[in-house]
Amino acid sequence: MADGAGPESRDVVVVGGGNAGHSAAIAAAERGRNVLLLEKGSRGEHGGNSYYTAGAMRVAHEGLDDVRDLLDDDERLASTVLPPYPAEYYARDMERVTEGRNDDALTETLIRESTPTMRWLYGHGLRFRLMYERQAYRNDAGEYVFWGGLHIGSTGGGKGLIEQHEAAARAAGVEVRYGQAVTDLLVEDGAVVGVLVGDTEVRASSVILAAGGFEANAAMRAEHLGEGWQHAKVRGTPLNTGDMLRAAISVAAQPYGDWSTCHSVAWDANASDAGDRELTNQLTRGGYPLGIIVNSGGRRFVDEGADFRNYTYAKYGAAILRQPGGVSYQLFDATTRPMLRTEEYDSPRVSVVSADSLERLAADLGIDETALVQTVTSFNDSIDTSVPFDAAVKDGRRADVVPPKSNWAVPLERAPFHAFPVTCGITFTFGGLHADTSGRVLDAAGDPLPGLFVCGEMLGGLFSGNYPGGTGLVAGAVFGRRAGSSA
Ligand SMILES: Cc1cc2nc3c(=O)[nH]c(=O)nc-3n(C[C@H](O)[C@H](O)[C@H](O)COP(=O)(O)OP(=O)(O)OC[C@H]3O[C@@H](n4cnc5c(N)ncnc54)[C@H](O)[C@@H]3O)c2cc1C
Repeated sequence: MADGAGPESRDVVVVGGGNAGHSAAIAAAERGRNVLLLEKGSRGEHGGNSYYTAGAMRVAHEGLDDVRDLLDDDERLASTVLPPYPAEYYARDMERVTEGRNDDALTETLIRESTPTMRWLYGHGLRFRLMYERQAYRNDAGEYVFWGGLHIGSTGGGKGLIEQHEAAARAAGVEVRYGQAVTDLLVEDGAVVGVLVGDTEVRASSVILAAGGFEANAAMRAEHLGEGWQHAKVRGTPLNTGDMLRAAISVAAQPYGDWSTCHSVAWDANASDAGDRELTNQLTRGGYPLGIIVNSGGRRFVDEGADFRNYTYAKYGAAILRQPGGVSYQLFDATTRPMLRTEEYDSPRVSVVSADSLERLAADLGIDETALVQTVTSFNDSIDTSVPFDAAVKDGRRADVVPPKSNWAVPLERAPFHAFPVTCGITFTFGGLHADTSGRVLDAAGDPLPGLFVCGEMLGGLFSGNYPGGTGLVAGAVFGRRAGSSA
């Protein structure tokens, strides 16, 4: 990298080329900064977890008219019901799913900036759409009714998002180098003045860390999340191994947020140990609110209908990991099977066992036949069938068993029966670094560490225990943009 006249020098070095890193790099470059983005993955491994996403983005809005200008043309827009998702709903959701452990200032900034940041990305050529296939149901009038506070997605999902980010970064004059694993931070007189890539120095006035969490590091998972987490499957990139978290903490950055919990979901039990670049998020099994989940003892262990999937899916991976063998089975019958999302439940290589009776299903799965039949029978018998089923709202159609199923209870009674084996897939870790709302990394005394910024999964304090779906990408864009605007 050096030209013989000393180490290479830039205004801004961004470490990590996912959604947050690109947002930061574009924001710095549009202010005329000379920006170099260093990405650990080679081309073909690039894009971080952001590449694997569905591109779902949770933003505050006042209904369709408020966001129409951001959306691709679609003939379905004319018959779309898009309930407003005002800032106060967003704030309430963050507060309730994290049980109040979310940082107030970061949360307020995230929500306030969510839609303006989408507009800013749109101005840089990123494209968005309504997620009809995963966040809407059709009503009797044929309208598409959106639910769950999560409506907008990037055009082309995570793959499209990264492609569009790369084009925007090129257009803004950012230089991106792949296959560059940053190994350490350079510090002089208490200020961060650059990075090391092996033995090579790259100096910079500001370094922005956007290198993901430690979800792909089995030893760090066991250390921080607890025994057993080393066995979780990684849903996304294998490259987010906590390198920059460790490097920053070793130069006095303050760890922040909840290091003992993470985002993890029901994931195909036969998926490989790290993410699949072709199937990406299609290995998720998010249809459980329409069925029941049993463990290998044939027992239910969560309220599958506690809330919309967007508010439970990120914590149920941990519940599955705690079951014997770390596996469980999502059960559906001939009534509910057709309601499952094609993208996930009819994807290539989907793991499923089907049978014409519950006894046969139990035998094929190798689980206790009597226990399974008893679980299903008592579930079916306890459903309040006087309440109409409606998947687009929390319908209160409850099964009064232990644990209860609070909404969307449909008896499993029509053969064939289907069991989808699932395990725990870890998405990302919640613990990160302490920073102010401009992304300036703070030390233990709460003072900024000169020259060091953070964004994306590496920023601690937003989530704990659970997470409202679609917030990760928006948080990455909001705080990436802010870090890039300050660096
Ligand atoms: C399957 C899946 C589906 C998801 N779906 C959604 C969704 O629909 N909506 C949503 O909001 N969130 C979703 N998420 C979560 C989302 O991916 C993250 O919140 C977000 O992408 C994080 O962005 P980031 O830029 O911080 O990290 P990443 O996109 O992971 O980028 C980090 C980058 O840093 C690089 N890196 C790591 N170490 C180094 C190093 N030492 N030197 C240089 N580079 C380094 C990595 O290679 C990686 O490219 C999903 C995640 C997964 C895995």
